Amino acid sequence: MKLSLVIPCYNEEQNVALFCNEATKVFDAEGYEYELVFVNDGSKDHTLSELKRIHAMAKHNIRIVSFSRNFGKEAAMYAGIEHAKGDLICLIDADLQQRPEVAAHMVRMLDASPELDCVAAFQQERLESGTLSFFKKSFYKIINSVSDTNFTQGASDFRTFRRNVAESVLSMGEYHRFSKGILSWVGFNTEYIPYEVQERAAGESKWSFKKLFKYAVDGIMAFSTAPLAIPLVLGLGLCALSFVYLIAALIWCAASYYTYFSTDMLVLFAVMLIGGLQLAGIGIVGRYIAKIYEQSKDRPIYIAKEIIEPKNEK
Ligand code: UDP
Ligand code: MG
Repeated sequence: MKLSLVIPCYNEEQNVALFCNEATKVFDAEGYEYELVFVNDGSKDHTLSELKRIHAMAKHNIRIVSFSRNFGKEAAMYAGIEHAKGDLICLIDADLQQRPEVAAHMVRMLDASPELDCVAAFQQERLESGTLSFFKKSFYKIINSVSDTNFTQGASDFRTFRRNVAESVLSMGEYHRFSKGILSWVGFNTEYIPYEVQERAAGESKWSFKKLFKYAVDGIMAFSTAPLAIPLVLGLGLCALSFVYLIAALIWCAASYYTYFSTDMLVLFAVMLIGGLQLAGIGIVGRYIAKIYEQSKDRPIYIAKEIIEPKNEK
């Protein structure tokens, strides 16, 4: 099987048949073997019965994975990749905002260059409001400044990759998934192509501002432990400040008529120093928690793209 299209669906009853038609038109013409892996992410409408209807009618390979409840798009993409049989896997939305023609183009790009492992699409022009666009851009700036993993501005989940990439993605079994980060973390040669995002074929976006904000926070927490270092930095800063204050107070005492060091000054110095030490203590604990957190995700220590054995090994 050459290609598996992985399509997460949540309340997409009006779109799945349409998607199936459009994708079939495009990929039948390409002339290779492909399958459509629909993941019904606990839809509350008739998405599942629509999928079963398509499955019964279609001559094509249609696979359906149906969740017991809504687990979210990340879980749906994971399940889709896990069940996909193709050598190439394409993640694509059910609402036709991402055109199957672009997916076919990605496949051609991968066919043309064997050293390429993944083709990812980024939105050239966003269809959403200016405010949302501003928040999304700010998110990329923040996450790139606090994380070692590189996040490409505007890159979507719409991408096609080889089986070795898929296996690596599946080897990352972390519960709170952030695919944009995972796909960047696993490495491999990725080429980014611009694409024009279309209007939704039917229905509405499942992402409210609140859901997006939570997703962004999850993304930062999954790929950075920098927030856990904040108390350490603040605590050490406060300790340093307390000594600066002490020296300044002593100089002031010496230079003025006061010949003794007032208790108020001492108390303030002590409060700053103790506060700083406590914060720094929490920060140190935070660094250890960060290590435990990273270890608990059980990510692979490395991902080898290929291993070349010596010629004469039996
Ligand atoms: N989706 C999903 N589970 C969810 C939310 C969304 O499987 O909990 C699917 C949805 O059906 C669609 C894709 O993820 O195929 C993208 O969702 P949507 O179109 O709502 O996002 P947007 O394009 O607005 O970013
Ligand atoms: Mg959409």
